Amino acid sequence: MKQLLTLALAVSIGSTTAFAQNPIIKHIFTADPSPIVYKDTLFLYTGHDTASVTAPNYKMPDWHVFSTTDMKNWKDHGALLSPHTFSWATGDAYAAQCIERNGKFYWFVSTFHKKDSVSNGGAAIGVAVSDRPTGPFKDAIGKALIINEMTTDKKHSWDDIDPTVMIDDDGQAYMYWGNLSCRWVKLKSNMIELDGPINYVSIKNFIEGPWVYKRKGWYYLVYAGVGTKAEMIEYCMSTSPTGPWEYKGIIQENVPNSFTTHPGIIDYKGKSYFFYHNGLLPTGSSYRRSVCVDYMYYNEDGTIQKIIQTNEGVQPIK
Ligand code: CA
Repeated sequence: MKQLLTLALAVSIGSTTAFAQNPIIKHIFTADPSPIVYKDTLFLYTGHDTASVTAPNYKMPDWHVFSTTDMKNWKDHGALLSPHTFSWATGDAYAAQCIERNGKFYWFVSTFHKKDSVSNGGAAIGVAVSDRPTGPFKDAIGKALIINEMTTDKKHSWDDIDPTVMIDDDGQAYMYWGNLSCRWVKLKSNMIELDGPINYVSIKNFIEGPWVYKRKGWYYLVYAGVGTKAEMIEYCMSTSPTGPWEYKGIIQENVPNSFTTHPGIIDYKGKSYFFYHNGLLPTGSSYRRSVCVDYMYYNEDGTIQKIIQTNEGVQPIK
């Protein structure tokens, strides 16, 4: 009986005052969340907005890492990577994703290439590597993995951004990326070399920010789409990492006070979580964004239910 009372009390507290609260990172502006789970800890890799209140554009100097074991308390491991880490790079720290393979952590990032003999200076994708999820990270290749000149279907200079990487059950790694055009390529098992030609896939309403993952036999391609007025999160499903992809609709409507949003999806300790960003911190904006997390629910057929954005966020894990 005492146990029952304690349980009831805990549930009562959990439903009123103990929620984790969005945005989850409050001491700096963060964007483009990318979660992984490693050894019982959830690590969250993010961008970092430092534009002034009146600035009309992004200022993103570096990438940060946070971690949690309870979805409430987040440890800030600091700015562990920046474009300065890459001798060939210049400019801002656009969206990135870190994944683990054989005990090494590969952080795929988008930034800009210097104008030099290799590239005319558009967006590019690089890879940093570390033996630990919290670094230190170094340039894994010494050059960019993808440069603007390698894709020519779009003519703007920032079409090669927002990498997402998935390792399939057979060990084959795939990278997807792009702005206004979704591309994918196989990666070799060393994770730092392309393993075939670049492929182009037609995705309805695709703008940017793909997040590809496999769950219970389904492949998901979730992305920032055209939406209405501002970006919304839309998704496709497939039975193969190479498609064809079937469009399934919008799962997240506009986010408050930010033109962009960005999906980061993971299962952790028995629940599914949807990370995204909005502009809801005080003095926030499209260029001063903040990472949030809410629950994500799947239907029996694998389709994803609409994400309900909340100020309360998710409940702490006991
Ligand atoms: Ca290009």
